[in-house]
Amino acid sequence: MQCELCGKNTALFKAEIESVEMSVCSDCTIFGNILNKIQTSEPSLVKLIHPSKRRLEIREEIVENYGKLIKQAREKLNLNQEELAKKLNEKESLITKLENNSISPSIELARKIEKQLNISLISVSEEENIISKNKDDFFTIEDYMKNGNKKTIRH
Ligand SMILES: [Zn+2]
Repeated sequence: MQCELCGKNTALFKAEIESVEMSVCSDCTIFGNILNKIQTSEPSLVKLIHPSKRRLEIREEIVENYGKLIKQAREKLNLNQEELAKKLNEKESLITKLENNSISPSIELARKIEKQLNISLISVSEEENIISKNKDDFFTIEDYMKNGNKKTIRH
């Protein structure tokens, strides 16, 4: 059966949307009040996961043009590679390799350089991870209807 709102072919619910009774999929029930589930032979899909089992993971990556950024910032501060190496407590040859983009710095080293040169070498991105694939962490649309708590599944 097809959802009358989005056309998705899935298990449908009778819902009252803007005082019109419609047959809609679970996603579209958020637009109105669920009256009852339309019985089909298909079991409803287990596809919802509790928000507490989602986690944002912070990913830190060194920017691609780190070599150029380091060199420019160093020159702006009138430091030569040796002087910068001393400030960072690293070898001069390491600075050369970093500026050539031939060695990529570790996050720790990048942090040290960032602080010293007042530049930004680490790009941070957020990734949503589902931290548990345990079946008990999923809930079905039936549970949702029983609990009647729309907030728990709203995105
Ligand atoms: Zn729909």
